Amino acid sequence: MKINIAIDGPSAAGKSTIAKELCKRLGYRHIDTGAMYRCVAYKALKNNISLDDEMRIVAMMDETQIRINKNGEILLDGVFVEQYIRSNEVSMAASAVSKLEQVRERLVAQQQEMAKDYGYVMDGRDIGTVVLKDLAEVKIFLTASAQARGERRHLQNLQLGIESDLQSIIEDIKQRDLQDSNRKYSPLRKAEDAIEIDSSHLSIEEVVDAIIEIVNKYIK
Ligand code: C5P
Repeated sequence: MKINIAIDGPSAAGKSTIAKELCKRLGYRHIDTGAMYRCVAYKALKNNISLDDEMRIVAMMDETQIRINKNGEILLDGVFVEQYIRSNEVSMAASAVSKLEQVRERLVAQQQEMAKDYGYVMDGRDIGTVVLKDLAEVKIFLTASAQARGERRHLQNLQLGIESDLQSIIEDIKQRDLQDSNRKYSPLRKAEDAIEIDSSHLSIEEVVDAIIEIVNKYIK
């Protein structure tokens, strides 16, 4: 039997990394919903559309195809865009467009459609509370201190050869937390039936093992 697993939590808590590992171990498919908001933001930036111009962004979305393939890779209008959507500029822009009600409505509908066959690990901010509220058997709320999240992102940047300043990363993370937790539509919050895991002092493997244990309890 396959189930759906929802993983929510603040920026840089390790949701995607954990989701990918879970998919490998369980043979599930990964849907990174943040990447979908990033695609909308990236295309809006490219087309010089103001990030609070909901009408134009929605019109742009009507002409846009966002797809996640079997390997969990994201395609924007048929093009692999992973390498373009992870910059700091796109991160902040994604947080801005994700405030817009109609942008959320459209992406949520698409995400619900994708997960209806079960066997998905979906990560984001509103998966347990909205997208898979009644469609995920296991819900995880993954947190870590802003310091721990900043240090991880900083290390990742250095490894990728990207210029990086720890203090400004931590400031951006705090600003996105604030923005994501205080917006009007679907703010980041833990679903009542979600299990919280604080990964500040845990390795990736320890977090994945803990979630697999929860999944096994459910499946057996
Ligand atoms: O998860 P990631 O950092 O890639 O997400 C980028 C931005 O997209 C987040 O800061 C958040 O504002 C938004 N987002 C959202 N709902 C989701 C996933 C992401 O609002 N389900």
